[in-house]
Amino acid sequence: MAPPPQIDIRDLTLDELRAELAAMEERPFRAVQIFDWLYKRRAARFEDFSSLSKALREKLAARIAFRLPELADKLSSPDGTTRFLFRLADGGHIESVLIPAGRRLTVCLSTQVGCRFACAFCASGKHGFKRDLRPSEIIGQVLFLETALGRDLTNYVFMGMGEPLDNWTNVEKAISIMNTPEGLGIAARRMTVSTAGFLSAFKRLEALDLQINLSISLHAVTDRLRDRLMPINRRFPLEELVAAAESYIRAGGRMITLEYIVIRGLNDSLDDADGLAGIARRLRAKVNLIAYSKVEGAAFETPAEADIARFRRWLEERKVNTLVRLSKGADIAAACGQLAGRFLDKAGPPPAGRKP
Ligand code: SF4
Repeated sequence: MAPPPQIDIRDLTLDELRAELAAMEERPFRAVQIFDWLYKRRAARFEDFSSLSKALREKLAARIAFRLPELADKLSSPDGTTRFLFRLADGGHIESVLIPAGRRLTVCLSTQVGCRFACAFCASGKHGFKRDLRPSEIIGQVLFLETALGRDLTNYVFMGMGEPLDNWTNVEKAISIMNTPEGLGIAARRMTVSTAGFLSAFKRLEALDLQINLSISLHAVTDRLRDRLMPINRRFPLEELVAAAESYIRAGGRMITLEYIVIRGLNDSLDDADGLAGIARRLRAKVNLIAYSKVEGAAFETPAEADIARFRRWLEERKVNTLVRLSKGADIAAACGQLAGRFLDKAGPPPAGRKP
């Protein structure tokens, strides 16, 4: 699946837009005006940029595309979680998940169509990798949702379909456009990049001069089990991952969260909890425990609530700040990529009868 060929106006960072305007023999300061139309006034067509001349609007329209992902399906859970399935210009599908919690409204954003890392518990990995998302397709998820809801979201988590560090060039551009005051003006501390441990791009993330939160999908505390659950561990084993995370903290004093999906009888022993406590203390990291929720075709089991509570107690007794995250939206295709996964193996429209 090749990405749509024409560059989109929202693929461009402010500096890139200035350069593009210069190449068109236009004044670079127009870039700030264009950003204002795109990200403050949320205009949807070049024709709406009324502070620009008609000639410039036509020039832009001839060279640059202007599109948002199209909503293909939407599923809501009684717990308030909503999954949005988007159809991209080339027919690919991705999903974003909206998670309300008190005054927070968090969106979980996709960064790739599919994923190449094939974690055993994950729906996205099960269907393989199709392509990277463009910056415009990442930001498009935010713009669509904020426009549809009529309000800004509070937290932005790059933890949906795909491994953000495997598409770092485009994710970094999306972050730049989301963060810059001329763009969406979202504070870096309200954004979280999640990784399964793709260390090839880790130094570039570390070099980013922003207080972005880092979340590590850990899920196992021995190489033996992590190799089995997350094949990426065979390339970047646990000790390398933890050492990279230590370096990330040293570089910017930023906070790390460890995500740990608890799978019954597999990684839920008190030895596992001990190992997790050791890593968490070493990184001064918080731990989020998430009960595994069933993925079609995977032979894992959801743990009992009492077992999660015991696991949590064990961590807390070892002075680890631990939160049990509810497996939000478990009734509407729980793990990342399950909704979009229905369309990764086959082309075609979503099932009839469930329209946005
Ligand atoms: S958990 Fe993340 S890295 Fe692993 S297959 Fe799923 S999307 Fe990819």
